[in-house]
Amino acid sequence: MIAESLGTGLPATVRPEEAADVVWHTIVIGGGPAGAAAAIRLARGGRRVLLVDRHGMPRPKVCGCCLSSTALAELRRLGFAPDEQGRLLGAHPLERVRVVAAARSVTLPMPPGGTLSREALDTQLVQAAIDAGAAWLPWTDVTAITEGSPSQRLVNVTCRPQAGERAGAALSLQAEAALIATGLADHVRVPGGGPRVIQPHSRIGVGTTLPAGAIDAPAGELMMAVGRGGYCGIVQLDDGRIDVAAAIDRQAITAAGGVAAAVAEILREAAGRADWATPACHAVARGAFLATPPLTRSAGSVAGGSGRILRVGDAAGYVEPFTGEGMGWALAGGRLAADALLTSPSPAADYSQTYAAFARQHHGRCRRIAAVLRHPLLVGSAIRVAAAAPWIAAPLVPVLVGSAGSPGVSAR
Ligand SMILES: Cc1cc2nc3c(=O)[nH]c(=O)nc-3n(C[C@H](O)[C@H](O)[C@H](O)COP(=O)(O)OP(=O)(O)OC[C@H]3O[C@@H](n4cnc5c(N)ncnc54)[C@H](O)[C@@H]3O)c2cc1C
Repeated sequence: MIAESLGTGLPATVRPEEAADVVWHTIVIGGGPAGAAAAIRLARGGRRVLLVDRHGMPRPKVCGCCLSSTALAELRRLGFAPDEQGRLLGAHPLERVRVVAAARSVTLPMPPGGTLSREALDTQLVQAAIDAGAAWLPWTDVTAITEGSPSQRLVNVTCRPQAGERAGAALSLQAEAALIATGLADHVRVPGGGPRVIQPHSRIGVGTTLPAGAIDAPAGELMMAVGRGGYCGIVQLDDGRIDVAAAIDRQAITAAGGVAAAVAEILREAAGRADWATPACHAVARGAFLATPPLTRSAGSVAGGSGRILRVGDAAGYVEPFTGEGMGWALAGGRLAADALLTSPSPAADYSQTYAAFARQHHGRCRRIAAVLRHPLLVGSAIRVAAAAPWIAAPLVPVLVGSAGSPGVSAR
């Protein structure tokens, strides 16, 4: 069922005009990990859920496609079970990270993780939401949410279908609550929704997927190359294709004359004269890259004054992705928001507290790591230390990737 869906795309389970005839318990805007996780939980909790996305599934997404042990734990909490080979949703095991900077490299074991293309992950999550009873309305761009009067106790969600007979026409949907799970590109207007704060000089995300074999990227290994203009992760996906994702300064893109050239420059600078560098740079330079808005940002986890509009996942806040934790955070955020809506008499207060505690714990550490990564020579020195004294480096890996437990190191 899932394999078929991946080939053809997940069809809508509700028509726009039908969706407009229902008062939903929750409208979830965005079918990424945050929105899908929330929709699955709310639908399983018996709520009438509408999951809306401006794209269809599968769709491309700039991402390193590495599932941290936190993300895998969240997927298990959602009820996904490993197959006979121990793979969750078809993710392939990720065992090591090779960090490359200032012409040095060190390979470190990682806490158990996985690699899975975003096409496969997100489509399976949305399918699980549909299986749980959520209605799915793809190709529908949400533009605004307004709060009804206190007596009405509803929110109005304005959207525009992107395809079909009603394409381009405004449509108004109603629900008791709305979850904004729109990722970094959140442009949903909420009167009194609070500011979105983007960190000055924040890097942007860029990414592409190359055909299998385009770069010699061993299965099970994430390569992270750190240069002055940013850093780039390369990993072999579950289907053999090569995922390339980078956080990069906008000036570096301008200086290199384009995104692909800037990513190739990061690789060249990090790798020095390593054998693999030239073919990898050529392959990357030919990639068709997508880009994200600035990465490091925050917005209120509760929007508006009625307590009926919550932000989850990247839409609530994000920090540069070196540690590859965003999907785990998004899945956890979806869980926290859904649990609050399902069980709390005051969901907004409850969610803002649990989300704030979660973000304090995870985002602060990532901000400090991101600051260190602005200094590739420092990273190069750290690699030299790691190579000479693996027992110092090994315990740091779980801190880098936000997880516990990890032995042994090999260095080149
Ligand atoms: C370069 C880079 C590398 C990364 N590498 C990793 C990694 O290796 N591991 C990891 O765990 N995380 C990684 N991340 C982070 C991860 O991609 C995100 O944290 C995660 O996708 C957030 O999930 P989300 O559900 O909040 O948002 P998204 O996955 O962005 O989903 C948002 C959804 O909302 C939809 N949408 C947006 N606006 C609207 C609208 N107005 N109306 C309707 N629908 C809308 C979009 O179409 C999309 O489907 C990386 C990020 C970047 C940029």
